Amino acid sequence: GSLLTAADLHKAYGPTVALDGAEFSIHPGEVVAVMGPSGSGKSTLLHCLAGIVPPDSGSIRYNGQEMAGMSDTQRSALRRSEFGFVFQFGQLVPELTCVENVALPLRLNGTPRKAAERAALSWMERLEVDGLGRKRPGEVSGGQGQRVAVARALVTDPRVIFADEPTGALDSLNGERVMELLTEAARTTGAAVVLVTHEARVAAYSDREIVVRDGRSRDMERAV
Ligand code: ADP
Ligand code: ADP
Repeated sequence: GSLLTAADLHKAYGPTVALDGAEFSIHPGEVVAVMGPSGSGKSTLLHCLAGIVPPDSGSIRYNGQEMAGMSDTQRSALRRSEFGFVFQFGQLVPELTCVENVALPLRLNGTPRKAAERAALSWMERLEVDGLGRKRPGEVSGGQGQRVAVARALVTDPRVIFADEPTGALDSLNGERVMELLTEAARTTGAAVVLVTHEARVAAYSDREIVVRDGRSRDMERAV
């Protein structure tokens, strides 16, 4: 069955309608691209699905459980244990080294430092940035920083990775490498990926596309 489903989502910011009946579903291990023009509601949809922004109305279920019925504590526990996040600008903590950044989600879950950094380094190897462990985010390139951010998203073995324009700040070569590594890592761990992008070349890494227009979403079945 579906891992994450949303039905009839509505969300307005004052007079601005961001979501106007959006739908969504994703199965375990699937990579779904959420596409659409700027301002169409993609980020809002992703933030609702991830339990970060509450919709005004509509249903969002994770593993059959209604998110609106959860307490804030339950929702943040869900985010920490089941979800991973990658944003357009890595959003790494500048004061921490790269390995400390990758280890951070495990540390927040209570994993001891040594074990957390061991797991972090093993993910950094898979993302081909293990040589950067002691550097700080300000000392690595954009493409390297984004691979560090992907390692951080994967380190807790999440079931869903939310990626909002993960290649938006990269040149096309680095962007493609990040997408290759992200989708390969997702396939080996069985994580699903919700990928927000406006670039067809990035969406080409997905199994399925959902197009958002004026806050409404449409499922585009793609013959593979
Ligand atoms: P996209 O990701 O497709 O660019 P967004 O979901 O960011 O679209 O935005 C959808 C609409 O909602 C836009 O008109 C945007 O300006 C508006 N919007 C999004 N977030 C906010 C917010 N926090 N406050 C006010 N308006 C917002
Ligand atoms: P994207 O590049 O993914 O479309 P945006 O630049 O539209 O993202 O928005 C980034 C963040 O800023 C969103 O999470 C949204 O909540 C917030 N935001 C977007 N539009 C507005 C707005 N008009 N007023 C306030 N916050 C906004």
